[in-house]
Amino acid sequence: MMQNIGFIGIGNMGIGMAANLAKFGHRVRVFDLSKDAIARAVEQGCTASDSVKSAVENADIVITMLPAGAHVLAVYGDEGGVFNHAKSGALLIDCSTIDVETARKVSKLASDKSFEMLDAPVSGGTIGAAQGTLTFMCGGSDNTFNRSKQVLEIIGENIFHAGASGNGQAAKICNNMLLGICMIGTSEAFNLAEKLGLDAQVFFDISKTASGQNWSMTSYCPAPGPVPKAPSNKDYAAGFSAAMMLKDLRLSQEASIQTGASTPLGARAKALYELMGEQGHSDLDFSAVIKLLADSL
Ligand code: NAD
Repeated sequence: MMQNIGFIGIGNMGIGMAANLAKFGHRVRVFDLSKDAIARAVEQGCTASDSVKSAVENADIVITMLPAGAHVLAVYGDEGGVFNHAKSGALLIDCSTIDVETARKVSKLASDKSFEMLDAPVSGGTIGAAQGTLTFMCGGSDNTFNRSKQVLEIIGENIFHAGASGNGQAAKICNNMLLGICMIGTSEAFNLAEKLGLDAQVFFDISKTASGQNWSMTSYCPAPGPVPKAPSNKDYAAGFSAAMMLKDLRLSQEASIQTGASTPLGARAKALYELMGEQGHSDLDFSAVIKLLADSL
């Protein structure tokens, strides 16, 4: 069934998601602070709006894809925001990656206004957004999740319900903290192997079937050679930038402080990606940390 969708935040990720919803046949009204972003979305079959209000006032579903928690709070809670202008019964889905605390706060504000809201951060990057193959990690009630599934299945391949509000964000930052740590560990192993005179391909062939095997190695190897499609073979042009990894590691460390969880390797990973930024390499792929560790960036 065709639905009216209000889509706020059509940057690198949002554009592909909004375009796929329009291609599917939904009526997608978009708003972004960038006029260029709006123009790109119109080329993809979406309708332009000049405010959050006009994007959401007739929407059955509101989707947001914004940089960080402060943007999400403002877009939903400001005078001209979603809570004041969405129609009663509209389903609200925030796909941005933000801190768990803000996600829970916005969802509480939504339920105070009788809206159903889902936090639904994604993994899969801009390629997944363009191809409609994102993974969604969702937090919210069973009912809200079930209502959202139909629309998320158009833009995603794997849709997980992680529990109550905020748990989608929790799954996202725990996963990405683990990814950052694994990428650094894998990089250290390849650098040490090289110093010991062990060929990268030989080490890869052994380790991928031994107990060191992990996704950072087998699908995204930081050493050039073994995984042809990995950014390491394209001068570390970003698939997932060091800046994005740092953002998620910062969120994980804020959550560690708030909860009292001990994450010393997460803290160290954050420090290494901060150093990469200080050295001016935030735009490189996060796997370029192998070069930082080898002192060859
Ligand atoms: P982006 O910066 O390209 O897009 C964000 C868009 O939001 C921009 O176009 C900006 O103009 C718009 N915006 C900001 N404040 C606004 C407001 N008040 N009203 C309307 N529009 C506003 O970022 P992105 O790469 O698309 O990422 C979006 C979110 O997805 C982030 O939370 C990011 O962490 C997450 N994410 C990104 C990737 C990735 O590979 N890019 C992967 C997974 C998750």
